Amino acid sequence: MRQALNRIGLLLGLLFGVVLPAAAYDAPLLAIVIDDLGDNRARGMAAVNLPGAITYAVLPHTPHARELAIRAHQLGKEVILHAPMENKSGLRLGPGALTRGQSPAELQHVLNGNLDVIPYVVGMNNHMGSMLTEQRGKMDPIMQVVKQRNLFFLDSVTTSDTVAWKVAHEYGIPYLVRDVFLDNQRNQAYIHNQFKQALSLAVNRGHAVLIGHPYPETVAYLNKVIPILQQLGVRLVTASELLNQRSRTQLILAQPTLDPCDHAEGHCDSLPVAAKR
Ligand SMILES: [Zn+2]
Repeated sequence: MRQALNRIGLLLGLLFGVVLPAAAYDAPLLAIVIDDLGDNRARGMAAVNLPGAITYAVLPHTPHARELAIRAHQLGKEVILHAPMENKSGLRLGPGALTRGQSPAELQHVLNGNLDVIPYVVGMNNHMGSMLTEQRGKMDPIMQVVKQRNLFFLDSVTTSDTVAWKVAHEYGIPYLVRDVFLDNQRNQAYIHNQFKQALSLAVNRGHAVLIGHPYPETVAYLNKVIPILQQLGVRLVTASELLNQRSRTQLILAQPTLDPCDHAEGHCDSLPVAAKR
């Protein structure tokens, strides 16, 4: 056993500059979520065909949402709603947007409509949302729907002042918090560096949540690196598996990295801070 762990440590060190803790070792868990599926069929299919337990966040009412969700499910992947929420930059939200101007009843109506059109949906995360996720009064009706429908919530953390995961916690909703954005810059060097950050966090803290997009650069990188994960001793899990594997206490103790990425909307420049236990 010790020999095997040493080998894993050596591999991680050589390939990713990650040092395993010397103490007793549980396989680090890594959840990879691919956002923004639905508008582009070819890119969406390329992402859905990635190997391993990946979670796909699908934009509602987009031309290929239903087909991509069904295909992902057929391949044993996980499907969540990528709920468009109002941002501070005035970026276009597309159909199914949740905005400040909507009443609690309207927010719930739109969100239920979004969830109804994505087959096999088991959770949701926010698309953009730097404006809306800061507003407690808007998160309440949203989390009520998440709770009613027995979904989990992943806070994409597009603003350091998000209250979304805190409100989910208060409602007793299983929740996760995005740790690292993979592809804020679409080049292999940047993506590799971000992936290393996520691996390091997973190894040090036990788990990490990585969000990427169906860019060709991202898909090419993940196609290369996912098959190596098992050899590295890192377990790739869906978002819901991550929630199941770790007790609530452990996940709640793991505070979000809260990097200052206001206006980033899924494309955050800053790196995560050191892992907290
Ligand atoms: Zn998005």
